Amino acid sequence: MPDYDDQNIFARILRGEIPNDTVTESEHTLAFNDITPQAPVHVLVIPKGAYVDYADFHANASDAEIADLHRTAARICAERGVTASGFRTISNAGEHAVQEVPHFHLHLLGGRPLGRMLARAAE
Ligand code: 5GP
Repeated sequence: MPDYDDQNIFARILRGEIPNDTVTESEHTLAFNDITPQAPVHVLVIPKGAYVDYADFHANASDAEIADLHRTAARICAERGVTASGFRTISNAGEHAVQEVPHFHLHLLGGRPLGRMLARAAE
């Protein structure tokens, strides 16, 4: 796993160097709207701590940080009204998943039919 790059765009958002459209914030977690939304609901949920990706976060974050992030994500789904209609969480990790920003994040997507999870055309 690469070292954490503290110049990545989400680190800069967390430091307040770049503005964001905040959805909610808690002790350990920040959630904001994706700048290029792929669905009517497209929220990025990130830990405030410095974790590169899914594996780093779940291996090294505290239980409180992990619970806070996932509970925050579920609460946003409820508040945005997609819990019943359906939604998708995605965490791209590493090269095969084309992770662009090396700070762990969950994408929350919903508000329209999302189709199947993977499209062969994207390969
Ligand atoms: P990844 O490919 O790393 O899973 O997704 C990164 C996501 O971050 C993309 O969906 C992209 O639109 C979003 N993103 C990149 N830069 C910014 C930014 O400056 N602000 C916000 N709100 N989202 C961003």
